[in-house]
Amino acid sequence: MTFALHGIPVSKGIAIGKAVLISRAALEVSHYLVEPGKEQAEAQKLLDAFQQVRLELDQLRMALPKDAPQEMGAFLDVHALILADPALAEKPIKLIHTQRLNAAWALTTELNDLLEQFAEIEDPYLKERANDIRQVAERVIKALNAQKGSHPETEFLPSGDMEVESIIVAHDIAPHDMLRFKEHAFIGFVTDLGGKTSHTAIVARSMEIPAVVGVRHASEMIRHGDWLILDGEQGVVVVAPDEQLLAEYRKLQTQVSKEARKLQQLKHAKTETLDRVDIELFANIELPEDAEQAVKLGAVGVGLFRSEFLFMDRKQALPDEEQQYQEYRRVVDLMYGLPVNIRTIDVGADKALGAGGSDVSQTGTSPLGLRAIRWSLTEPEIFLTQLRAILRASAHGQARIMIPMLAHAKEIDETFRLIEKAKQQLIQRGQSFNPNIQIGAMIEIPAAALVLPLFIDRFDFLSIGTNDLIQYTLAIDRADHAVAHLYDPLHPAILNLMANIIDQAKRANVPIAVCGEMAGDPTLTKLLLAMGLTDFSMHFSQLLLVKREILQANVGMLKARFPRVLKAYEPEAQAKALERLLA
Ligand code: PEP
Ligand code: MG
Repeated sequence: MTFALHGIPVSKGIAIGKAVLISRAALEVSHYLVEPGKEQAEAQKLLDAFQQVRLELDQLRMALPKDAPQEMGAFLDVHALILADPALAEKPIKLIHTQRLNAAWALTTELNDLLEQFAEIEDPYLKERANDIRQVAERVIKALNAQKGSHPETEFLPSGDMEVESIIVAHDIAPHDMLRFKEHAFIGFVTDLGGKTSHTAIVARSMEIPAVVGVRHASEMIRHGDWLILDGEQGVVVVAPDEQLLAEYRKLQTQVSKEARKLQQLKHAKTETLDRVDIELFANIELPEDAEQAVKLGAVGVGLFRSEFLFMDRKQALPDEEQQYQEYRRVVDLMYGLPVNIRTIDVGADKALGAGGSDVSQTGTSPLGLRAIRWSLTEPEIFLTQLRAILRASAHGQARIMIPMLAHAKEIDETFRLIEKAKQQLIQRGQSFNPNIQIGAMIEIPAAALVLPLFIDRFDFLSIGTNDLIQYTLAIDRADHAVAHLYDPLHPAILNLMANIIDQAKRANVPIAVCGEMAGDPTLTKLLLAMGLTDFSMHFSQLLLVKREILQANVGMLKARFPRVLKAYEPEAQAKALERLLA
């Protein structure tokens, strides 16, 4: 039966493919298609893992001390019974043979189905058995991972191996897990949770594939293998579409790709407005290699390198100074002398530290908690390591330091003290760096915006992080879909705050950019130009769309019409003023 689900469109485009359900637990296991002809061997691996767990349970049973509580024995018996039921292995083995899923993936797919069935059971005793099944399955997965020659854990579906293009459906995907999908052949993402500027959404956009987030219950209502149409323009997911709908969307898909090809022609055009105001377009990147594309599309530098993505891999230790230096240097080299703003680690809230983070201060998940520079200042050794790596990269090009989430003068003092210390450490080691490296601050907390002269006096450049500035000004958790409808870049408070920041910085002759998602939204380009903004930083996939708007804008006219927008507090008055501005 055809039905449609609605969510928040976060990455444009239309994808048509089959659903691949990824459960939270499943994100921890490998996902790949076994080579044709190797299905039987893969099925055998699963049977061996079952046998291995059977032996483990027997050994546990025998090693139980005589005075152990009775429940312990009963618990092991239940697990042995579950394991002995041939039905648990039957379906996964079928999935291995028919869909060529690897063993762990096939088992987690079956586990999800079983857990769903148990969720509907009323009887509390039977309901509780769901946990036993989960525990048994986890033991089997552990045994599979321990098998010699098992596929590396971080593998996802290799591209080229897919017979039908696949769309990921998950309850939630952490930003770093999203990056792990980057190499592979998925053509779209649907998640139950998330908001427009959640980091997961930002990464989906950077992968240039359609994504809809905040589609409540999607992962429960969509089944593995369902045909889906993912409309990243309207935020709609059509499940099991009929032929007519498929034909309509295929037509739309062709139109969208035609438009994209047309846009490519703007690559070499000078970025200036109709009235000859020069505009600079910078790129936001999460991974060093993204710099290559940024240059190709005409970015004049990297306005935001989210360095924390080097620290978020759940399987790796935190990178040391040498590893970081190599990565920063790679970006600097790829940018051929253009500026590169390396934003110091911004972990916390929706970005968790990777495996190496277990020994250090925990960031927590609250956006009001120990995040970004606050965390770095509680871990001065990690911060110093990063600062030395950035400084060393500055010997090879225009690496610049950019600090996230500053609000207090004493945080600025402490940051500068540590930058000085890092420089001294390098001098002592005899390692070169640019002693005049530029240091910038992100303006993303309202308090910083309200004491802007403090930042203007102390920093070489400023960059407005609108994602957080909106989050903190409107008190909306940007990753929480329940309040996503209140996340409004056009709120008069935001427009007034931003216009004021840009105006003050321009008057003081301090370079000011916007590097939040607003800068990459072509529907807001003219509004930002009207505020006097000349430096935009966005994901490279948005560069040409924003450029097209700039080429058609007249800044003089926009500025003249802008005061009315700022004074319009009532929604109707604002809509009118905006309509006039954009006419
Ligand atoms: C922002 O807050 O606008 C920003 C660019 O930083 P991030 O999205 O990484 O928090
Ligand atoms: Mg931010």
